[in-house]
Amino acid sequence: MSILSVENLKAHYVTEKRRKITRVLAVDGVTFHINKNEIYGIAGESGCGKSTLLKAMSGLIKPPLQVLEGEVKYHFDDRELDILALRGEKERREIRGARISHIPQGSMSVLNPVRRIRKSFEDIVGTHLGIRGGSEFEELVKSHIEALGLDWNVMHSFPHQLSGGMRQRITIALATILKPDVIFADEPTTALDVVVQRGVVQLIKKIKQEQQNTMVIVTHDLAIHANLCDRLAIMYAGRIVEEANVDDMFQTPKHPYTEMLLNSLPTLGDRSVRESAPGAPPSLVNPPSGCRFHPRCPKVMEKCRLEVPELIEVESGHQVACFLQEGRVYEQTRELGANYH
Ligand code: SF4
Repeated sequence: MSILSVENLKAHYVTEKRRKITRVLAVDGVTFHINKNEIYGIAGESGCGKSTLLKAMSGLIKPPLQVLEGEVKYHFDDRELDILALRGEKERREIRGARISHIPQGSMSVLNPVRRIRKSFEDIVGTHLGIRGGSEFEELVKSHIEALGLDWNVMHSFPHQLSGGMRQRITIALATILKPDVIFADEPTTALDVVVQRGVVQLIKKIKQEQQNTMVIVTHDLAIHANLCDRLAIMYAGRIVEEANVDDMFQTPKHPYTEMLLNSLPTLGDRSVRESAPGAPPSLVNPPSGCRFHPRCPKVMEKCRLEVPELIEVESGHQVACFLQEGRVYEQTRELGANYH
């Protein structure tokens, strides 16, 4: 059962300078759905549009970002919600925190450096639950942070007195205290060392298991996706080019870009030089025609420069946007037809 569906979403950054309008096509025609209680990953190189997609899904649309087309709909047990149709910031704020929440890139964007940690919890719990201190507040916050392995004493600290790993744990505790239905995490382990990263991954798994929420993890780090996610989407230049469950994606990638990303990963015991993806992601102001990956694709064909490949299902639950897959699907359909007759 899906909890979130995104239909043909186009979210562009539009700026005007000396009467010249510049449009950055950060998310450009994206369709997918997220199932209830799953951990869904979104991967791709920096600048592919994944963080913008996450902003649009959480209704964080502020100029110069504009949603030009498409829908983002939540299917909660008690209500349907079109987040892009919410007009007032007050309405959006009520949804954010209580129904959907956000673990941002870098804890310092959430934690105010001149306020003690307790104040951040008071803001969230006070705004959404109306509990502004006293034993009820302490009981609620204490049980939550202790379940996440944090000591109550951190409440009296200022952010700069804590390590980066501890601050990230607190950010996660803040994002999950209201037990939201959907949690978005934007590069939740970036800038943390490997040991701390492992702790944060374990913490996210624990929360998901206990609160039974749905999570969307956005990171370029494929190892994090392999560790955490049930399904994974690969984005390239503002579009999804492949989507599959994590095992299929890592064992049988089908898009040349996904193959390239996976080939660049080191494997244990292999000392050979890994190939990185040649070239760089294109500018999203003026992306390449046809398949946007064609200037970097080792399997490029003439058609790829002219036409846009659609995201099609090539195996159950495995979708790919690449002309190389068209013949495969045709062959499979023919075989099925032959068996049927
Ligand atoms: Fe490469 Fe063409 Fe497939 Fe794009 S559509 S990934 S250019 S083969």
